[in-house]
Amino acid sequence: MGIFRRSRTPRGVSWNVNYLSNILNTNNAIDVIIAEHALREQVQREEASDIRTAACEKLMATEDQKTQSENVKSTLEQALYRAVSMLEPPIKLVYDALRREPNWFMRGPLIEYCIDSGGCCSRQCGCCAKRCFLGAHKGQGHCTSECWCCAEYRGCELSSQQKKDIRESMEARLRYRGNCEHSPYLLRMASGFFGPLKPPKHKKTWWF
Ligand SMILES: [Zn+2]
Ligand SMILES: [Zn+2]
Ligand SMILES: [Zn+2]
Repeated sequence: MGIFRRSRTPRGVSWNVNYLSNILNTNNAIDVIIAEHALREQVQREEASDIRTAACEKLMATEDQKTQSENVKSTLEQALYRAVSMLEPPIKLVYDALRREPNWFMRGPLIEYCIDSGGCCSRQCGCCAKRCFLGAHKGQGHCTSECWCCAEYRGCELSSQQKKDIRESMEARLRYRGNCEHSPYLLRMASGFFGPLKPPKHKKTWWF
């Protein structure tokens, strides 16, 4: 079943909704969004660890710790690969083209979500925009509960339970009590995650 088919949407995004309605499977979209979020958490966890660890301590980090971290990342990359491989060919082409752009995630719906959830886009630090300069790697994007800058701003690290609650809340909003076709949150996220870079020439509306 396609996504957004029965959704009421603002006039400005009607093209995008129509475009996605026939080719993006709702459950596949949710799997990709969750897998990308998990990989982003791990990338930001490693980044925070690097920043907080003094250079001399880094040298003392055991090979086991490094290997463990690489293994976790590799597992999450494989999970994302599996989720992406389930996308319909037309949407996968769009997805792959989008992810080759280092700044793909600096677009309306995703910036709005980062602002709403108190991420770096809600402040002047510019961390999310700077992540574009790290190259087009999967795992780049807006803040998760692992962002070191957000933790500095809060003045504390979130507990494991709080991080788990945030993940579960995100998943619940995507699945919308088993009625994900009508999830307003999924609608916003999917236009950010899967919307093509350029609209067809005969259309005037744009994604943002
Ligand atoms: Zn920041
Ligand atoms: Zn942040
Ligand atoms: Zn952001």
